[in-house]
Amino acid sequence: MQIAIVGGGWAGLSAAHTAAQMGHNVHVFESAGTLGGRARSVHSPTLNTAIDNGQHILLGAYTATLELMQALGLNTEQSFIRLPLSLRSADGNLHMRAPAGLPAPFHIVAGLLSARGLTWGEKQAALRAMSQLRRANWKMPRAATVQEWLALTRQPLRLQRLIWAPLCVATLNTPVNQACAQLFAYVLRDSLGAASRSASDMLIPRHTLTELWPTRLAELARSGALGTSPAARLRLCTSTPVRSLRYAAQPSPRLMLDEGTELYDAVILCGNTPSTERLLATLPPVQGSDTFLHDLGAFKHAPIATLTLELTEPFTLAAPMLMLHEDRTRGHYGQWLFQGQDNGRRLLHVVISDAATLMQQPRETALASMIEQLRVQLGGTGMPAIRRHALIVEKRATFLAIPGLKRPGNRTPWPGVWVAGDWTDTGYPAVLEGAVRSGRNAARAVDAALNEPRA
Ligand SMILES: Cc1cc2nc3c(=O)[nH]c(=O)nc-3n(C[C@H](O)[C@H](O)[C@H](O)COP(=O)(O)OP(=O)(O)OC[C@H]3O[C@@H](n4cnc5c(N)ncnc54)[C@H](O)[C@@H]3O)c2cc1C
Repeated sequence: MQIAIVGGGWAGLSAAHTAAQMGHNVHVFESAGTLGGRARSVHSPTLNTAIDNGQHILLGAYTATLELMQALGLNTEQSFIRLPLSLRSADGNLHMRAPAGLPAPFHIVAGLLSARGLTWGEKQAALRAMSQLRRANWKMPRAATVQEWLALTRQPLRLQRLIWAPLCVATLNTPVNQACAQLFAYVLRDSLGAASRSASDMLIPRHTLTELWPTRLAELARSGALGTSPAARLRLCTSTPVRSLRYAAQPSPRLMLDEGTELYDAVILCGNTPSTERLLATLPPVQGSDTFLHDLGAFKHAPIATLTLELTEPFTLAAPMLMLHEDRTRGHYGQWLFQGQDNGRRLLHVVISDAATLMQQPRETALASMIEQLRVQLGGTGMPAIRRHALIVEKRATFLAIPGLKRPGNRTPWPGVWVAGDWTDTGYPAVLEGAVRSGRNAARAVDAALNEPRA
């Protein structure tokens, strides 16, 4: 069968891989010049090298992503730096590390109890909140925000500021007073609360995001090595935006894209919600289509900024990933600091989630205060001078994970038209694993529908 996939992000490429493996003839259309979507490499003219559009980390719990990479013949142990769960602040005042050798969930309990920089009362409060959540089978009060949950479980304010708020913003890209508590609970369940301790491992890519696996998929597609039969072919077209969809007059419900003449048995739309809404609006209305479009229109987005610094000398951080204390009143917007994966060890990446406030500042002022933040919080570690820098702001980095958001499944009311992406009903916030699972599930659902006997 012929399947068109609009969007070459992680959801679209995961759908393409699954559909080709199932024997379909798949055609991917990506409007950008590079594969990867919101997780892609870009050429930085200032740094004169390839960097990511934003620092990403994966978790050991991202099983669908790791399986996909393995299916492409990639060695996932070599592709990432795998770190046992650890939270360590750049100033060294806070350090929580899951000790080796203990099974889940005791590694979390022991890590928390032995943490440096938290009081005994704060440690007890955190453990109490986690065990209440586990007993409640990870179910949160309906429509609660993370802030409401923190108040309900009487979490000390300092613990909220040091641990819960940074974790919430890092995982949901939504501040605690707006973030959906249920989605946060799912993140805690699948990482800290998982049966296997490796689920909470943090995986830092050693390669740029496009090289991590999309390039490999493209190579296999070009060499015809994908798919289970000669008829199963995967074509990947970059710099090819799709602007409209239409049904072929006969035999319905086959679809066509733009002015093209190729007929598709199914189309999977894998863009973000505004792009998907625009494309669906080019189709004739059907029963349920107004509600579907209305639900897509309700998604709001939040930015993430990444500041990459190139230092004049090699410099090694105390750990590949360090926490920064955010203090917006001082212009200290940085939340996490990463060691770059360049061979020369000269690159550092500063991550700023929920970056709307940062974007309102004059660029030079914001940069100067974030660099001051690093100097203050890295203290006496002797960070070398900065040679040059690049600031990338992804304005629609993720959807805002607020309570009550209606996230659709892969099926749409339009015959033959499916959707996939991190914003669909994955049970995850907007993350890579959600995108990969959504793409895989969409392809499986399309395959099942195409194999159904027609009435
Ligand atoms: C800065 C940043 C940091 C992040 N950090 C993390 C992290 O640490 N861990 C994590 O798990 N997640 C992180 N995320 C989220 C993660 O990147 C996303 O969840 C994931 O990439 C979404 O993939 P997707 O395929 O659903 O959508 P997208 O990546 O948005 O892919 C959609 C693709 O469709 C294309 N497209 C849209 N419309 C059309 C059209 N009409 N025609 C052709 N092509 C079209 C777009 O160009 C795009 O390539 C981060 C995101 C950002 C931006």
